[in-house]
Amino acid sequence: MAKKKYVYFFGDGKADGSADMKNLLGGKGANIAEMTNLGIPVPAGFTITTEVCTYFYEHSQKYPLGLKKAVAQALKKVEKSMSAKFGDPKNPLLVSVRSGARVSMPGMMDTVLNIGLNDTTIQGLIAKTGNERFAYDAYRRFVNMYGDVVMGVRPETEKEHDPFEEILEAKKKKRGITLDLELTAEDLKELVAEFKALIKKRLGKPFPEDPMDQLWGGIGAVFESWNIPRAISYRQIHGIPEGWGTAVNVQAMVFGNMGDDSATGVAFTRDPATGENYFYGEYLTNAQGEDVVAGIRTPQPINRAKKVPKGMMTLEDEMPKLYKQLAGIRNKLEKHYREMQDIEFTIQQGKLWMLQTRTGKRTAAAAVKTAVDMVKERRISKEEAVTRVSPDQLDQLLHPTLDPKAAKDKIAKGLPASPGAAVGQVVFSAEEAEEWAEKGKKVILVRVETSPDDIRGMNVAEGILTSRGGMTSHAAVVARGMGKCCVAGVSDISVDYKKSRFTAGKVVIKEGDWISMDGTKGEVYKGEVAKVEPKLTGDFGTFMKWADEIRVLKVRTNADTPHDSGVARAFGAQGIGLCRTEHMFFEGERISAVRQMILAEDLAGRKKALNKILPMQREDFVGIFRAMAGLPVTIRTLDPPLHEFLPDIKDTKEINALAKEMGVKPAYLKKKISSLAEFNPMLGTRGCRLGISFPEITEMQARAIFEAACQVAREGKRVLPEIMIPLVSHVNELKLQRAIVEQVAKEVMGKQGVKIKYMVGTMIELPRAALTADEIAAEAQFFSFGTNDLTQTTFGMSRDDTGALLASYVANDILPKDPFVSIDEPGVGKLVAMGVQKGRSTRPGLKVGICGEHGGDPDSVDFCHRVGLDYVSCSPYRVPIARLAAAQAALKHRPAKKAAPKKTAPAKKKAPAKKKAAKKK
Ligand code: ADP
Ligand code: MG
Ligand code: MG
Repeated sequence: MAKKKYVYFFGDGKADGSADMKNLLGGKGANIAEMTNLGIPVPAGFTITTEVCTYFYEHSQKYPLGLKKAVAQALKKVEKSMSAKFGDPKNPLLVSVRSGARVSMPGMMDTVLNIGLNDTTIQGLIAKTGNERFAYDAYRRFVNMYGDVVMGVRPETEKEHDPFEEILEAKKKKRGITLDLELTAEDLKELVAEFKALIKKRLGKPFPEDPMDQLWGGIGAVFESWNIPRAISYRQIHGIPEGWGTAVNVQAMVFGNMGDDSATGVAFTRDPATGENYFYGEYLTNAQGEDVVAGIRTPQPINRAKKVPKGMMTLEDEMPKLYKQLAGIRNKLEKHYREMQDIEFTIQQGKLWMLQTRTGKRTAAAAVKTAVDMVKERRISKEEAVTRVSPDQLDQLLHPTLDPKAAKDKIAKGLPASPGAAVGQVVFSAEEAEEWAEKGKKVILVRVETSPDDIRGMNVAEGILTSRGGMTSHAAVVARGMGKCCVAGVSDISVDYKKSRFTAGKVVIKEGDWISMDGTKGEVYKGEVAKVEPKLTGDFGTFMKWADEIRVLKVRTNADTPHDSGVARAFGAQGIGLCRTEHMFFEGERISAVRQMILAEDLAGRKKALNKILPMQREDFVGIFRAMAGLPVTIRTLDPPLHEFLPDIKDTKEINALAKEMGVKPAYLKKKISSLAEFNPMLGTRGCRLGISFPEITEMQARAIFEAACQVAREGKRVLPEIMIPLVSHVNELKLQRAIVEQVAKEVMGKQGVKIKYMVGTMIELPRAALTADEIAAEAQFFSFGTNDLTQTTFGMSRDDTGALLASYVANDILPKDPFVSIDEPGVGKLVAMGVQKGRSTRPGLKVGICGEHGGDPDSVDFCHRVGLDYVSCSPYRVPIARLAAAQAALKHRPAKKAAPKKTAPAKKKAPAKKKAAKKK
């Protein structure tokens, strides 16, 4: 076997790796290699592969044979490239050790800078730079960072202060100064000694002086940080597999803190909040990498593309030549990657160095705008644009924003770090956020700044508010990634953790008080501000149109009311896939009539009650038919778990009233209610079983549907009712119910003299139905897979009782995903596939859809596309998500030879291929 390559060098315009080696080199390493190969200035270094991380965990934290040697060799090359030597007392090379998983995990894995400094090499650094203060500043930062990240010297509780920070503050106090910049070389030198003493005291072992020990300590810490709790949390939230591991990048240090001709910054090739096409970024002069992201000093904008606060300078003003070079690199990177990039740069004494590039995290609005713009700029095709926004991310655009017309009491303004609206109660720690959210409260997490440890709290919060930090601070980046409203750097508030409150001028907001935030404007308001529905036009409309052109699956909605139907149509629903009639029965006075129907002594009593319900149902259907204006509407006949309709047997008052209304004795009612009690309602008198026991119920519903249809048809509107019989397990059940529906249809249409096209079909939601789908299809004009019940009955698990159990199944890898969220392909999916195939074997061209929760889950939509369903149906707010998921599924499973060519190509040319694919269905 050929020897495995564990270490990949980059430097001097040439790299062993490239951008397509992300799995092996991690995202950071692969892109650094790519930038090097593009001739962009990158400090030399090397990447230790993710395979070493996997090996490390599989071999009780040992490294593979030959790694040490490979690292030593690569280090030699770095030394040569940077003309310095690691550990050399006269001319020391310093390096950073940087983590880098396949996908970026912002702030999750720790980076250590300035490795290689000790009491000897510091002299070399001083001599080399002629700047003692700078050298000791680098040294104290190094001991601090190394002590924290590698050796674990950090606060032990959330309330405790950082021990290094405490020493630093004490020093400043003693010297009577406020800024770090005011510390002298001597102060910094003392700090180094004090930091080392702290480490020795805490750990009982000294700070490592040997640069090689430092390096390996750093490498080990990065590999170990793959399994620290906050990294695990991040992976869980974002579905990143444990087994991927991280790479380690060792890279020559460059310094942004060598004086006023040095700087460091972070930029996006486009605005990550709005998607606008201008060069967006922030920087700090005389600062080192982490300073910008950590939000300790408020950074300056790199240019004047957007309004700059009075008196503030930009990079373009201060270093015009370097800015121009940076802008050139921006163009080069966008052209090369054909995608918005998020970049890190450092300027060391007038020389620009690039330290990172990656696909920029952006808001959904920015993702849509960038995708649409890049098509217009002819960088990407429409097909590619459609893949650039994740369906789940679209969710952000479908939710309400603060009502512009509502009265607002503005108390503060900060940076519009992540758009959207948030209304919630204030909490001051991530832990509280989790506790409150668990109790069903809506919270806004308020922090001075956030850190990676806050990730879970941020995830459950409605929004995040920080008093410090810029647009690229941790809070801002993470919030954008989560699609969460965030207002950052609100310097006009002051947060007091001890008193659990913040003040904005005279206003005091205590823990539990309500505030509202507009993440697009960066504004904070007192109290609860009303929200309004989103707009679906402009770039969003264009983008969705492209998705619609590509997709093969139709998308319908589950809606029970005219209002929901209207919302769903605005979201692009192509019909109703499931209208649940029993939901209508709960409204207002209706429940009483429904109870009378169920509890009636005899047919006459039942008919009396049904006659009360008929006009109400008819009205509902009229409203829905009108709202859907000619689109198909699938109406399911009654499917009640009976107990949901019955009064509580102990509720004497309720029972007496009902008995009076029905003209029966309360004792009779009680007896009847107990006789109807079921041990297992989920498997009891549900679905068509009720209609079989009491055909007059089905008859009344059919009458309401057809009378409504005739009425709307007479208004000159098209109606397309599809009557769906639920919970069929045997074809004969369907046969009986269908006969009733057809009988009523004939009668009503005859009486009203209107002819209506309609269909009668069934739900396939029991394994027996799927297994005998060929027989059932003889009686059914369409199928709709009710995957909620099909999942319950296939697993033999009640959805309502197994939430916690299934969560533990997923946590323990018994199941990959909750089967009620994402379809279980090997089991339930097999029944669906069989149902489709058998159904179409006896009724070619049978129309088949799905109406479970799964219809709005992107992975399940992909499955539905693959098994050849005609449509998916989901809740109104998920309709656009399903439309996009359907388009992405169509692109993903397009026959290989028709796949989109890699380079930009006008989308029009490919249209015929798409049509053909669609027709094959
Ligand atoms: P993250 O994944 O959290 O972004 P990075 O590895 O990018 O971590 O490093 C954190 C910070 O340190 C960044 O601002 C980066 O620019 C800076 N940095 C990393 N390596 C070097 C280096 N060799 N020289 C100068 N700055 C560096
Ligand atoms: Mg970091
Ligand atoms: Mg970085």
